[in-house]
Amino acid sequence: MKKNNELNQPKVQNLVIIGSGPAGFTAAIYAARAKLRPLLITGFEKGGIPGGQLMTTTHVENYPGFPDGVLGPELMDLMKAQAIRWGTELIEADAERVNLGIQPFEVEAEKKLIKTNSLIIATGASANRLNLPGENLLWSKGISACAICDGATPQLRGEELAVVGGGDSACEEAVYLTKFGSHVHLIVRSKKLRASGSMADRVLANSQISIHWNSEVIKAEGDDWLTSINVLDRETSKTNQLKIKGLFYAIGHTPNTDLFKEQLDLAESEYIKTALGRPETSVEGVFAAGDVSDSEWRQGITAAGSGCKAALAAERWLTAKNLAVIIESNQLEPERAKMPLKIETTTEKNYSANSLWQKGNYPLRRLYHESNRPILVIYTSPECGPCHVLKPQLRRILEDFKGEVQGVEIDIEADTQIARQALIKGTPTVQLFLNKELKKEWRGVKQRSEFKDFINNIIETKTR
Ligand code: NDP
Repeated sequence: MKKNNELNQPKVQNLVIIGSGPAGFTAAIYAARAKLRPLLITGFEKGGIPGGQLMTTTHVENYPGFPDGVLGPELMDLMKAQAIRWGTELIEADAERVNLGIQPFEVEAEKKLIKTNSLIIATGASANRLNLPGENLLWSKGISACAICDGATPQLRGEELAVVGGGDSACEEAVYLTKFGSHVHLIVRSKKLRASGSMADRVLANSQISIHWNSEVIKAEGDDWLTSINVLDRETSKTNQLKIKGLFYAIGHTPNTDLFKEQLDLAESEYIKTALGRPETSVEGVFAAGDVSDSEWRQGITAAGSGCKAALAAERWLTAKNLAVIIESNQLEPERAKMPLKIETTTEKNYSANSLWQKGNYPLRRLYHESNRPILVIYTSPECGPCHVLKPQLRRILEDFKGEVQGVEIDIEADTQIARQALIKGTPTVQLFLNKELKKEWRGVKQRSEFKDFINNIIETKTR
């Protein structure tokens, strides 16, 4: 087996992992502990945000080891920290292109060409959405794509709920939700259920479920939380309003396999084909893990398990082909994991005119009126996964600009008045101010380069 010391990185990676959900990070933890120094490309905008579907879930109560549950984004922070602690390197960007037709394989990310002897694809699947009016605002506030993850949310207890879809997932979720809700409306766009007979029978026999045949949801309403939906009966063209507190989509998932089309064998459903219960794909040295190759179970824990299998399989394959380059660390024990910093609200006492990043309305008011530097304001809410993703990216931008730009975080739950004045409609929102003037607003998660390009322009104009 070849060996390499820490400073002497091989030009060809042992293992690249694409995807940063439970499958990707578990694969990284195993491969890093096997001293393969994996490179993990997190994904960024395409196919969902880094951290995957758990980043848009609130409480995860079925992941073993957390008896009182854990927030989805927190669970992903822990997995990420564990992967990094053991030596995983991260590229926080989308993988733009892969070439699996040559060995070593090629992956392009952040405009860099990366060569690797093995590859684990853990790009996940995106739950399909209806894209209703009102949906974005109420996502995770009554609207969800995972009843098993979110069904037990306290706000839903004893309330009327609805599920959209007629497949096995929809039927299973409708039955599951009767444990929590007073009644479940199953909204099916056709005249029949697509679900398996036994699953359909369970639904039809359950007096707590009523099926709305030939029906579609056309609108969701609510302010802080979903309060009602409008359902159109396609036969009569009549619209009926249902007062519900939870709306669950079970209208299928789309695996994130666009990058691999025509390079790997995909099933008709576009999921990556692997041997039953195994991670090997149709290309030797390429493995798949998690939802991208699992159309059935699709749980965080099953994804993590398959990530473990994929890493062990990749390690065995690299060893058998005599391709593994063991990367020794100078330290016997790695340092303790670093978790993201939580910063306290800035007050008059701890305010600094030159601080890179502060929190709350006090620093915002001071900087807005007194600073002649650009100010990046990020509006967040405590359980917002995408905010969690964006904050460290913005911090890196501020560090890169070495104090030329300052940042302030506004928690819109704590500073409602500010959020209202700034006309914030969702989190994360980022606004850039210069000399009391709003120069630009961004909604959702964006790549660092997008912010940096704009800031560079503004600084150039300012100094001209
Ligand atoms: P499916 O693709 O099987 O079903 C999707 C359902 O959503 C269909 O009823 C479809 O309607 C409906 N639908 C799709 N798009 C829309 C839309 N825009 N508006 C309204 N309705 C829509 O997905 P599932 O997630 O249910 O299942 C995926 C796979 O996983 C299947 O193989 C299933 O058997 C399996 N599974 C098995 C389980 C089990 O055995 N316990 C549990 C869950 C899933 P239409 O029928 O009209 O196309």
